[in-house]
Amino acid sequence: MGIDLTYAPAPESRSIVDLKASYGLFIDGAFVDGHGSGFKTISPATEEVLAEVAEADAADVDAAVKAARRAYSRVWSRMPGSERAKYLYRIARIIQERGRELAVLETLDNGKPIKESRDVDIPVVAAHFFYYAGWADKLGHAGYGEDPQPLGVAGQIIPWNFPLLMLAWKIAPALACGNTVVLKPAETTPLTALLFAEICQQADLPPGVVNIVTGAGETGEALVAHPDIDKVAFTGSTAVGKAIARSIAGTDKKATLELGGKAANIVFDDAPLDQAVEGIVNGIFFNQGHVCCAGSRLLVQESIADDLLERLKRRMSTLRLGDPLDKNTDIGAINSAEQLARIRELSEIGESEGAERWSPACELPSQGFWFPPTLFTGVTQAHRIAREEVFGPVLSVLTFRTPSEAIEKANNTPYGLSAGVWTEKGSRILHVAGALKAGVVWANTFNKFDPTSPFGGFKESGYGREGGRQGLAAYLKTEQGGR
Ligand code: NAD
Repeated sequence: MGIDLTYAPAPESRSIVDLKASYGLFIDGAFVDGHGSGFKTISPATEEVLAEVAEADAADVDAAVKAARRAYSRVWSRMPGSERAKYLYRIARIIQERGRELAVLETLDNGKPIKESRDVDIPVVAAHFFYYAGWADKLGHAGYGEDPQPLGVAGQIIPWNFPLLMLAWKIAPALACGNTVVLKPAETTPLTALLFAEICQQADLPPGVVNIVTGAGETGEALVAHPDIDKVAFTGSTAVGKAIARSIAGTDKKATLELGGKAANIVFDDAPLDQAVEGIVNGIFFNQGHVCCAGSRLLVQESIADDLLERLKRRMSTLRLGDPLDKNTDIGAINSAEQLARIRELSEIGESEGAERWSPACELPSQGFWFPPTLFTGVTQAHRIAREEVFGPVLSVLTFRTPSEAIEKANNTPYGLSAGVWTEKGSRILHVAGALKAGVVWANTFNKFDPTSPFGGFKESGYGREGGRQGLAAYLKTEQGGR
């Protein structure tokens, strides 16, 4: 008699979230109507409309920047660091208290599995606020002078893949250093930023210290172009990052840019293979591959390639794709129809260029945006799937024979955000990590995030660092504070 290994549905209840029919902009401590035409945000898993969201035009952005400037001059930059810290600690604690609500809302709006938003995103968000709260009264000991000063008003623009986590990476260090902010979330995932605005109210944060303007690219452009912004902090695509760099050239605005990636995950023949398989799966299928530092290029030593690929395919066959709110789901929905179209297009190009495509048997839901976990073998460095960021659950496999060939292939990309090395040999880890042109190199693990650790890119992956002591430099008047 066979054993039934199917999982019963285990959906997380969404009743903890109090979804409103419509949301305004958060300016000067209050929710206000926007002047734009408004837009809908949907669940990518079901295409159900979740809420109507206000769209900020240039006048709304101006009101938000003015509120941030007032709060900066009158309150926040004058407040002792020990007092700013209290607000940040309070926000961190409320995030923990409301963690389940935030996780469910993030999963509804983004499509990521609840076990990821619950166990990774939201705990790391809270950790980020706790960590930077700790710095607020110790800035004179951070290595940036005895009394480092804030920059002023920061305009911050974030993408949709880790909506609340990217918000935390931007807002926590900015506020700790004494800046005030105007933040624009991505147009497909505005809801947790708006819930964060409610948390700012709950924490009694002085009005204007945090302002949230929702909208799409035009709202972002208006924020970047605003003459009273001292700093632009952007996370998103390399194309938009370049446009922003061009538009602020010649101004005295500072900028940090966290852009795309095409990371190599390098597996040597002495690596613990089952552990490596887990790391490869986590590297590319975590968050449906919508991860800037995803290990999207697997470089495997030729002598173990067949064995590793067999184990990887077996493991991929056990991944469960479906309802993101189900606690057993490994792979959720693709965030938008546009992103799904891009993943499909690049995958078709991969096939037409001669790579071999494989996915496990996998039933896709009929509603919503879905793409199965996918593997391409026979990939060469010239293939577009080896060069361009797919930003989806698609892994390109290449092989190598020697460590120097692995390093050369890994660095053969315009990007340089992250990389992974799998080997039992400590000396090889140090040698390879030192030779890789990547901001983060993980050894025998992948996609690990910690607020104490700086994160950022080389080459077209951007400039500036977020996280750690280094992340403070992006928000202080120092030569190291970005460009
Ligand atoms: P995107 O560049 O299209 O959008 C990012 C944000 O910029 C959104 O809020 C968008 O509304 C806004 N925007 C769009 N056009 C703009 C303009 N002209 N001026 C100002 N703002 C504008 O990127 P995306 O598709 O939302 O996100 C995916 C990209 O983000 C990927 O390339 C990924 O690698 C990158 N990313 C990087 C990091 C990192 O830390 N390096 C982290 C997450 C995502």
